[in-house]
Amino acid sequence: MIIVSDPKILKGGKSMKISEMGRLEPFGPLYEMAQKQFLKAAEVMDLDPNYGNFLLWPQRVLEVHFPVIMDDGTVEVFKGYRVQHNTARGPAKGGIRYHPDTHLDEVASLAFWMTWKCAVMNLPYGGGKGGVRVDPSKLSERELERLSRRFFSEIQTMVGPQKDIPAPDVNTNAKIMAWYMDTYSMNAGYTALGVVTGKPLDLGGSEGRPEATGRGVSITANEACKVKGLDISKATVAVQGFGNVGSFSAKILSEEYGAKIVAVSDVNCGIYDENGLDINDLIKYRDSNKGTIKGYPKGKEITNQELLTLDVDILVPAALENAITLENAKDIKAKIIVEGANGPTTQEAEEILLKKDVLIVPDILANAGGVTVSYFEWVQDLQTFFWDIDDIRKRLNKMMVNAFAEVYKTKEKYNVDMRTAAYIVAISRVSNAVKERGYYPM
Ligand code: NAD
Repeated sequence: MIIVSDPKILKGGKSMKISEMGRLEPFGPLYEMAQKQFLKAAEVMDLDPNYGNFLLWPQRVLEVHFPVIMDDGTVEVFKGYRVQHNTARGPAKGGIRYHPDTHLDEVASLAFWMTWKCAVMNLPYGGGKGGVRVDPSKLSERELERLSRRFFSEIQTMVGPQKDIPAPDVNTNAKIMAWYMDTYSMNAGYTALGVVTGKPLDLGGSEGRPEATGRGVSITANEACKVKGLDISKATVAVQGFGNVGSFSAKILSEEYGAKIVAVSDVNCGIYDENGLDINDLIKYRDSNKGTIKGYPKGKEITNQELLTLDVDILVPAALENAITLENAKDIKAKIIVEGANGPTTQEAEEILLKKDVLIVPDILANAGGVTVSYFEWVQDLQTFFWDIDDIRKRLNKMMVNAFAEVYKTKEKYNVDMRTAAYIVAISRVSNAVKERGYYPM
């Protein structure tokens, strides 16, 4: 189905034309939503179309179909992608996800958001993302390894420590990053620590990487409380998704900021306790219960939809895209939404929430803690000199607080929402880089 049109920034940026030309089949509604977010900011900042139109599209898209020998000797063919949205400010950076529903629309959108996320944080990176259409829970350990190594070999032409640096995302982890690093290194003939981030500690990984995204979510939640006049130590919180981002957000918000986590959920169910959940206990339960919180005895089971509409101060969507939609936005009672996941709020839902004066800390700022510590990991790998956890946390805190302040100042200056403000900060950095580099060959 062809959904995405061909948006263009017109001279002066005052009106946005959807031209009939250049319709691209593989992109769909998610990429269109991402482009609309961009166009909203481009209009406010009167972006020069000579740079803006280029930034609307991914620079490079690679789609691969690759064979994997299964344990029973048969060969299955899998589909994967690597997309680089823009590399004007440095190598592409972005995770690789394994999911049965992943598709180019999703991967391209995530690459697009990575460009802006890196620029909001002022990291010397562009945006990239990858994915393999697979349900990894159906693979044995050896099949997962063969799939990971073959996929990384397929995209080896695009990645490299100075070109494009992948990282974990949904359903990928440090072990898979170690296989990627080893595969690249064996093919290249030397150990290339800096080719991926999110690696195990003894393979050039960084202290603080697993908790980094959740820590960044917590830091920005705290900054959001300050501007909303809320005391975070008295705030109630609901967290959707209890994987890497959700569980570390819940843990750090409760342990370090004193917030009360009244509900969390995963793909199977939500767990609610109005007196607050013991997050460490829940993590232990999840880890001994095949990764799910289903059946946790010290709380009431609720649905994911019920979780989203609880009467809480802060809502952290930390699962997948499109969690907050036209259907549930009107029932959301949270005063602050901190987007742990990428793209959890649809544009229609956001309009409703903004009318209700909900402060939305957008994904490209809220969950940027992960890529920021990935950047620290890469810098440490290139220097082969490693920092301790206090250093990492201090540097992350400073960068997240500064980025929040810059976005908030821009929001006030242009009288726009936080997402548009974050895009304005990011787009001006990237478009300046494109302008200063110029277009070559000419
Ligand atoms: P994960 O695989 O560790 O966890 C995902 C969680 O979401 C799991 O608890 C899963 O059960 C739950 N989930 C899945 N579908 C759901 C549904 N329909 N309803 C409710 N819960 C559901 O993944 P993660 O690394 O925590 O990533 C979560 C989100 O955060 C993704 O959007 C990812 O792109 C984004 N993100 C991750 C990082 C990172 O460092 N891991 C960084 C930035 C952004």
